Amino acid sequence: MLALACYAVNEDISRGREKTESKPKFRDEFQRDRDRIIHSASFRRLVYKTQVFVNHEGDLYRTRLTHSLEVSQIARTIAASLGLNETLVESIALAHDLGHTPFGHAGQDELNNCMSEFGGFEHNLQSLRIVDHLEKRYAEFRGLNLMFETREGILKHCSKKNARKLGKIGERFLNRNRPSLEAQLADLADAISYNHHDVDDGYRAGILSFDQLSEINLFGKFLFKIKKEYPQISDNQVMHETLRRMVSFVIGDLIDNSKYLIDEHNPKNIDDVRNAVINLIQLSEQTEKEHSELKLFLRSYLYKNEVVDEMTKKAKVMIRTLFDSYMSGDVKINDNLDVEKGMDPTKKARKIADYIAGMTDRFAISEYNRLS
Ligand code: MG
Repeated sequence: MLALACYAVNEDISRGREKTESKPKFRDEFQRDRDRIIHSASFRRLVYKTQVFVNHEGDLYRTRLTHSLEVSQIARTIAASLGLNETLVESIALAHDLGHTPFGHAGQDELNNCMSEFGGFEHNLQSLRIVDHLEKRYAEFRGLNLMFETREGILKHCSKKNARKLGKIGERFLNRNRPSLEAQLADLADAISYNHHDVDDGYRAGILSFDQLSEINLFGKFLFKIKKEYPQISDNQVMHETLRRMVSFVIGDLIDNSKYLIDEHNPKNIDDVRNAVINLIQLSEQTEKEHSELKLFLRSYLYKNEVVDEMTKKAKVMIRTLFDSYMSGDVKINDNLDVEKGMDPTKKARKIADYIAGMTDRFAISEYNRLS
């Protein structure tokens, strides 16, 4: 690892773990976090969870797992060039989507509807819940007992109401402090990653065309150049070459602009980062505008497209059926879900939500078939 900058997180200034443990022998504390995440059951499940396209729709689409790896790759590249803690951003990136339900956002929205009387459901909060409570593997503690800064990065946003229940990790949402630069970076790397790979997947699915995409500034400017430079290459090559230049342009912009902001605000340590008036990891204004344009385009033309929407409708029915069946208690429930009749409904609903959220797409489909 390259030398860390004074404003980076390192284990000596870390707020540490909830439960104190002896120091790892062959790695540092943040490497230990990353390794715990990789060895968790929730991480393995990501391979069968939808990013945008349901897993069985095609073998080449991104899944939550490949998405998380791509986020981690982008985040690490940027971290290294800013002198940030590469292992910490890697851990945050690998864990950031652990709390996602089956069937992507449709699944999360419906589970949130199901839970409306019981405190709601939010995938980001669920990711933290998994690493703090739901993984049960270690003899000495519940969850993965991760470092404060890893958990802080996982909890990207949080309502004040929820923040009050979370203790130390929720404080920054009440005090309006900023998270570490590593957390800020992992968050942006997520957006850079899906904005780029959802174009690729949407094109592969035949939903997005070059014609539509050429209207989008960020994509169009590279497309135009590549078509001129290489008139003889295939459409797939054009797509890949355009995306690769686009993503590397955005990454370059983020590095340059963040360097500029760091220089200007001159943080001497992590406290300066937390108390800064703005996030110091940011795209330039112009690129941010273009990036948002692409995001909005994807929202209208991909996420709300009828092919994707059809799956969304089906997903909602499946999640609702699972939730209602388990709540009613009339069905034979899998042994992994220990709920009983007569249990406090809020407690029962939360256990059911945890159980459903942990399902892979294919397990949810087979449970749905069994129950309906
Ligand atoms: Mg993500």
